[in-house]
Amino acid sequence: MKSRRDFFKLAGLASFSFLGVFTANNAVSQERKRGGSTGAKPEMLDENSSPAKALNYKADRSKITDPKLKTERQGLAFDKQSCANCTLFQGKPGDKVGGCGIFPGKQVAATGWCTSWMKKG
Ligand code: SF4
Repeated sequence: MKSRRDFFKLAGLASFSFLGVFTANNAVSQERKRGGSTGAKPEMLDENSSPAKALNYKADRSKITDPKLKTERQGLAFDKQSCANCTLFQGKPGDKVGGCGIFPGKQVAATGWCTSWMKKG
């Protein structure tokens, strides 16, 4: 009789433990799904941040007004230069935003520009 009672106690404890492990695994799985497959995109580079200001970055290159910056580079007129055709832009053709080799962990606008612009080869 006593051993049967012990058996049921152990069975109940085992079921409770299993449920706890299952619930914890399920929560971890759900968390991975939330941040996981698509991945959280890095935030946009703030034009007013120190690194952006240091390189005169603007998300809209038409906002660059300093004539000393608006020069031809590598045979390309300033009006044709943008992040989209910069060798450091990590987005795919047609992407509106993408990573940049100069600003790790941030995204820049394809329409942007900074003084590190280099013609995509
Ligand atoms: Fe845009 Fe190129 Fe400057 Fe990066 S390095 S912000 S892609 S112009």
